[in-house]
Amino acid sequence: MQHFDLVIIGAGSGNTLLTPFFDDWNVAIVERDTFGGTCLNRGCIPSKMFVYAADVAEIARQGPRLGVSTRFDGANWRAIRDRVFDRIDPIAASGEKYRLSLPNITVFKDTGRFVGHKQLAVGDEIITGDQFVIAAGSRNWSTISSPTQSNSRRRARFASGPSPIVRTIP
Ligand SMILES: Cc1cc2nc3c(=O)[nH]c(=O)nc-3n(C[C@H](O)[C@H](O)[C@H](O)COP(=O)(O)OP(=O)(O)OC[C@H]3O[C@@H](n4cnc5c(N)ncnc54)[C@H](O)[C@@H]3O)c2cc1C
Repeated sequence: MQHFDLVIIGAGSGNTLLTPFFDDWNVAIVERDTFGGTCLNRGCIPSKMFVYAADVAEIARQGPRLGVSTRFDGANWRAIRDRVFDRIDPIAASGEKYRLSLPNITVFKDTGRFVGHKQLAVGDEIITGDQFVIAAGSRNWSTISSPTQSNSRRRARFASGPSPIVRTIP
């Protein structure tokens, strides 16, 4: 059974905790999905990159009304989507690679589940720790099941874009 000074569950904000202060700590990071968590992979950053493309399209469309010779000729969803994920995927991958390269850090790519006092099952293994940080994020929850609750990360990567929402600036 491997023992750690510190076990961090979740490599979203959890991954940002590791300052040089922890350089001589034996640390485990348990992450079942992509390094960077919600903000990097499906929240803050991709949403703003999508919104920026939408803003540029809208500004181009509104130009003539303001006396500016611009025109909106359409949007290439695949190009918009690929620009977003071609930028963020390498950041997630390099974050994980960096942690894997550090001698005092062990990365477990699986779901962590408490099975006893300071004992965490990770895949087939049980690890123990002096201290734990639970940075596992949160989930939306509803008594009504809805198709819109599917994984937003998958939705963002769809091959076709969302239906256009046309808004008019007064
Ligand atoms: C569309 C969208 C836009 C957003 N925009 C903004 C914004 O502009 N500004 C802002 O401040 N916030 C924004 N947020 C909110 C922000 O993304 C979250 O507040 C933040 O990511 C939460 O960080 P976290 O570390 O708590 O959780 P997460 O980033 O969700 O990280 C949790 C990690 O834990 C892992 N995990 C969970 N359970 C386990 C387990 N049992 N075992 C192993 N791993 C596990 C998950 O795979 C995940 O990687 C946005 C969110 C969304 C959805």
